Order: sequence, then structure tokens, then C-alpha cells
Amino acid sequence: MKYCSLCHNVSDHDICEICANPSRDHSTVCVVEDIRDVMAIENTSQYRGVYHVLGGIISPMDGIGPGDLSIESLVVKANSGELKEVIMALSTTMEGDTTNFYIYKRLKGSSLNITTIARGISIGDELEYADEVTLGRSIVNRTPYENSLSLK
Ligand SMILES: [Zn+2]
Repeated sequence: MKYCSLCHNVSDHDICEICANPSRDHSTVCVVEDIRDVMAIENTSQYRGVYHVLGGIISPMDGIGPGDLSIESLVVKANSGELKEVIMALSTTMEGDTTNFYIYKRLKGSSLNITTIARGISIGDELEYADEVTLGRSIVNRTPYENSLSLK
């Protein structure tokens, strides 16, 4: 099994079908935990951007830190000047929130729009278990990440 050198999605080639597709919006990147989330979001047919697969989320209890995930390559991508928006689409668990916040802090200095999928999905739900309609709607109705911070 190979991984896409751009987004870390599973792929038969160096660059996956989604990244290689010229009709996708390459200036919008959706950050997800793993490839199952890519499949779940693709199934909604509501998203035309590309992805960035972290390969997990920050979980001190499991000994998973930022350095174990594909976060640096996301920061490099974000600083390339080619992106307009980064959509955080991680699970609404404590670990998901921690990871969102860490990435937000790393990207904050850039001129990117950092958004998060709308939380029609109830707290603690794993992204991949959300039904297609709810998930599709939550991507379309995404909101600035700062808004979710002021709620805390
Ligand atoms: Zn890819």
C-alpha cells in the first residue's frame, strides 16, 4: 500500500486520484484524521477541495504527539501561499479538539481562512459514523475556527 506524497491518502500512485484531479479546488484543504474520513466526506459529494490526512490525532494517553502525525507537511503546504482555506474536520472528541487547536496555533500567522465543519454532529461522534446528509451539510455550513474558540 502506498501513500499520496501530497495528502497522505492511500494511493496506487505517487499522487492520489483526488490530488491529481485538475477539477478539484487545490486551494482548499480539508484536514482529517485518517483515510476513512476521506471516504466518508467523498461519499457526501459535497466537497470539491483536496485533503490532508494526519494519520491520527494528538493523544497524550496513547503517546501520540504532534511529531507522530503529518502536521509539519501541512504547515509547509499552508506557508506555500497556494492555499486559501484549511478546513478542520476532526472528531469532536477531546483529542480532536486538542489537535484542532494545535494546528490552529501553527497556522494562525498565515493569511489562510481556518474553518471548522459545522457541528451538526453531536459531541463525541466519530466523523466516519455521521450520516452522509449531516456530514455533507456540516461541510457546506463550515464556520471560522475562531468562532468555536469563543464558545469555550
Ligand atoms: Zn493526495
